[in-house]
Amino acid sequence: MDFKLQGKLAVVSGSTSGIGRSIAQSLLAEGAKVVVNGRSEGSVSKALKTLDGDTHGVVADVATAEGCDKLIEEAQKLGSIDILINNAGIFEPKPFEEISDEDWLRFYEINVMSGIRLSRAVAPQMKKQSWGRIIFISSESGINIPVEMVHYGMTKTAQLAISRGLAKTLKDTGVTVNSVLPGPTWSEGVEEFVERLAEGKSLEKTKAEFFKEARPSSLIQRFASTDEVASLVTYLCSEQAAATTGASMRCDGGIVDTCF
Ligand code: NAD
Repeated sequence: MDFKLQGKLAVVSGSTSGIGRSIAQSLLAEGAKVVVNGRSEGSVSKALKTLDGDTHGVVADVATAEGCDKLIEEAQKLGSIDILINNAGIFEPKPFEEISDEDWLRFYEINVMSGIRLSRAVAPQMKKQSWGRIIFISSESGINIPVEMVHYGMTKTAQLAISRGLAKTLKDTGVTVNSVLPGPTWSEGVEEFVERLAEGKSLEKTKAEFFKEARPSSLIQRFASTDEVASLVTYLCSEQAAATTGASMRCDGGIVDTCF
């Protein structure tokens, strides 16, 4: 199927590794130009070497307003932005009583404000060209709030509200806005997360036990690959997905126990 993404300009926040990097590669394979973003010169140039296609790197910390401005300004030098993937995000296990004000605010700045700031910056141009795709990489944790990281769950629920509200704001403009809710996905970030959960036990053992003990409702009982998430995101960016907007699309291995 031709997704008709040839020559489209896409910005993927936090795309030097994990899900973001796979989304970048998947969009490149469809002929899109992709702006790859990370926080350091080293991580961006390393990622660019592994990606195949029309890539452009921008070093910017999207946890700050300045970083978001820089990412959009640099990307706009290449043309008007057609696709924005709000992917950058952090997660870490911490008991509720130990989550400080600083932790709550840090999670909010990176996981929530980055998507708000970047979307606000691209929406006017997308409206003007009557075409655009904005996707928030939320999580099944926005529905199943994880007891080991309530602050993370809060940010992922907030993304669902923003995505739905923005889709309504952009009603009848040709711009679609959707959220994708991955379940546990084997990325670099999740490898570190599982190492922290392991607390001295072997990584392989913890990985094997993770679904039985911490995520028993998963119907696939394994981590998804970052490419499996990227496939859904790429479809939502396509011309064929024009009738899907304001939606929360699960790619969670059936972990959320509902049929809608
Ligand atoms: P990851 O840690 O492997 O990759 C995240 C990327 O974002 C890294 O390249 C990192 O450098 C970048 N990043 C982080 N903060 C940034 C900042 N302030 N500015 C610029 N770049 C920044 O993580 P991942 O597992 O690929 O997660 C990506 C997204 O998917 C996150 O929003 C996460 O919440 C979501 N998600 C992940 C899973 C999972 O199991 N992996 C599940 C559901 C949702």
